[in-house]
Amino acid sequence: MLRRQFIRNMSLTAAAISPAASALASCSSGKKDKLGIALVGLGGYASGQLAPALLETKHCYLSGIVTGTPAKEKIWADKYSIPKKNIYNYDTFDKISSNPDIDIIYIVLPVALHKEFTIRAAKAGKHVICEKPMAVSVADCQEMISACKQADKLLSIGYRLHFEPYNQEMMRLGQQKVYGALKEIDCANGYTWGNNTTAWRLKKNLAGGGGLMDMGVYAIQGARYVTGEEPVFVTAREEKKRPELFKEVDETIYFTLEFPSGCIAQGISSYNMNINHLKVKAAKGDFELSEAYRYGGMAGKTPAGQMNFPQINQQAAQMDDFALCVKNGKPTRVPGEMGLKDMKVVEAIYRSIASGKKEPV
Ligand code: NDP
Repeated sequence: MLRRQFIRNMSLTAAAISPAASALASCSSGKKDKLGIALVGLGGYASGQLAPALLETKHCYLSGIVTGTPAKEKIWADKYSIPKKNIYNYDTFDKISSNPDIDIIYIVLPVALHKEFTIRAAKAGKHVICEKPMAVSVADCQEMISACKQADKLLSIGYRLHFEPYNQEMMRLGQQKVYGALKEIDCANGYTWGNNTTAWRLKKNLAGGGGLMDMGVYAIQGARYVTGEEPVFVTAREEKKRPELFKEVDETIYFTLEFPSGCIAQGISSYNMNINHLKVKAAKGDFELSEAYRYGGMAGKTPAGQMNFPQINQQAAQMDDFALCVKNGKPTRVPGEMGLKDMKVVEAIYRSIASGKKEPV
């Protein structure tokens, strides 16, 4: 009895010490309760959102890091109790294959590096979450999907809004036609770029594109998940108010998506406007999110009144869901194929800007 009590107390103490120790304690049965996630690329999103979310997750925890900046190693190791053996750089990355503490690799790098690290992660025998936009081209997305299939590993894209109650309600209202047939969608996402002139997001070889790839994918996603359809045609035009800054990538793009049902989505992606909404006109009433794609502070209304759902930690919900998919051998609701579909739309939008015509997706 005493021995059992001692072990239980030790487990509780370990859980209080650190997420890593907590996961270790839960491994004592031989079966992992929490899967280990390694973040690759410790920039703004990894440090501001994902790592803090991994302190709240129930089915996974931050077990490792991959960084090209040696100075970040100690800071992260101290803050998140990460042992030295679970710290890698971009050259030593492939050695993760022999590390049982790392089950899932989460790629949070500039877009052009997503393909290389997804493929290397799959070859290392790990499941992968890759940030949005999935890659710089449809062809790259296809290679990433193939590599994960070949390695028999799950591939998921960081589409956190599929786990967010307000956006889930928009999916339900639209796909179930609660207010009748969908007529028009107004979807827009953007922010006003500051004075940074050196960011990777301004460089085509690292970002692949500009506001459309970074912000526009949310608007495209919104139109796709409200309708539950794939657009068949797109028409688009580009506008640049700060051409000296946006030399290599797009600043603002206006696009029209035509869906098979006849619904039309008018979208805007921008690095020059503070816009963030998803509005739907349906036969029997309109519904919308006026704060649609942010990490929190979601707001929306339907003909029945204001929406009122809990504001959740979207990243924690997203990563927990993926960890459960891995544990239970189930498909993810945000797979690589979803990222590929968005890139098909993105490429059609760029084609339409170049041709000045309507383009098939
Ligand atoms: P940051 O610029 O803040 O961080 C990127 C990190 O990647 C760097 O800190 C660095 O980490 C690493 N890196 C490796 N090579 C390079 C390179 N050549 N140039 C610059 N950085 C490099 O970007 P974000 O964190 O904002 O974005 C990363 C990814 O996450 C993007 O794909 C972005 O679209 C996505 N994202 C998704 C969000 C979402 O809501 N789902 C929100 C924000 C971003 P290190 O020093 O550790 O090597």
